[in-house]
Amino acid sequence: MVFLIHYNELGLKGKNRRYFEQLLQQRVADALQGIKAKVSRLHGRLTVKDFDDNDSEKIKDRLKKVFGVAYFAIAQEKSQDFEEIANYALTLFKGDDKNFCVRAKRANKDLGFTSIEAEREIGAILYKTVNLPVKLKDTDHVIHVEFYQDVAWVYSSKERYFGPGGLPVGSSPKVVSLMSGGIDSPVASWLISKRGAKLIYVHFSSFPETDLSSLEKSEQAIEILADWHGATRLYMIQFSEVQREIVKKCPERLRTVLYRRFMLRIAEKIAFRENAKALLTGDALAQVASQTLDNLSTIDRAVNSLVLRPLVGMDKDEVIAIAQKIGTFEISILPQEDSCTFLAPKNPATRANLKQVLEAEKLLDVDALVDLAYRGKQLIKLEPKQFKQQ
Ligand code: ATP
Ligand code: MG
Repeated sequence: MVFLIHYNELGLKGKNRRYFEQLLQQRVADALQGIKAKVSRLHGRLTVKDFDDNDSEKIKDRLKKVFGVAYFAIAQEKSQDFEEIANYALTLFKGDDKNFCVRAKRANKDLGFTSIEAEREIGAILYKTVNLPVKLKDTDHVIHVEFYQDVAWVYSSKERYFGPGGLPVGSSPKVVSLMSGGIDSPVASWLISKRGAKLIYVHFSSFPETDLSSLEKSEQAIEILADWHGATRLYMIQFSEVQREIVKKCPERLRTVLYRRFMLRIAEKIAFRENAKALLTGDALAQVASQTLDNLSTIDRAVNSLVLRPLVGMDKDEVIAIAQKIGTFEISILPQEDSCTFLAPKNPATRANLKQVLEAEKLLDVDALVDLAYRGKQLIKLEPKQFKQQ
């Protein structure tokens, strides 16, 4: 058996193509950690070979989570003899097919036959036995044959699976993701990871004013995300000192916006240390009081960094659908004591303007508070959940 892995978008990248292919090969190898298998790169696709057949289900599950994989198939390697190919293809019919056709592709064009000839001849041999009509559009069962050098890889359309698409992790620079443990931040993280960024996480904990549930939830969500993007790190920041100062000295209605400005400032320091190029949050426009356009704008002025908000235009239902698909939803809905709601104001400002906020921050020693919180950072290493379960 051999896994044939196809990618889409990479083909579009012109000169960078080789680099992306090599990166994807590395990411596939990373995902197969702990499984004996050989990953090779050849002619616009990757192959996984030399594995124990008992591991094929595990390989299948892992490949479904490698960004950059458009689709993959589980094929058998045969000679290029049409009879041999057809004889094997016959075993792929399970008796419940309505119609069929053969699709052939050639990697090298010097085989002495065209793809169409191969399709016709193999199809004709099969037709004699399978007793099904040939249908070329919306076909029920497609027999795929890919000719490469001196072999043919044969597989059924029923053994073809979608990968997540996107780009291999590492093809964009690092990003620092603000992870709260709620529903939104894991989804935002997944979307940016899918576009190739490597994620480092930061969680702001209000312990001991709150319990550690939001930290634990964040860790669990990141382990699930690590199945998709690989091992990573989480910075835990003790945030309660900053919050106590804000509560003590600043107008109550500005609290949430002030908390969020401090979060970004501290995250920006982590980004600098990590050589990350952007910050990332799970905000969706106008979802809650702190996420009005006015407030988001005032929050962002605290830093110079680019702040990515991939959920900005999404409804909650759309976010939840993704959370369920990627596997973080169940953890996100567990109860938590949130640092953002810690001593939340009764009437939060929905239009905190920058002038008011800057006035309020004059009452604080901003740099000292940021430094204090940053110095107390704790680094937690997190591995993919799927490796733990081996
Ligand atoms: P989420 O579902 O991600 O918690 P939310 O809808 O509850 O988001 P907020 O609590 O306003 O919204 O948080 C908005 C964003 O700010 C979060 O998505 C996250 O990126 C960041 N954030 C909020 N609280 C924290 C925290 N304690 N630690 C790290 N990031 C946080
Ligand atoms: Mg939240």
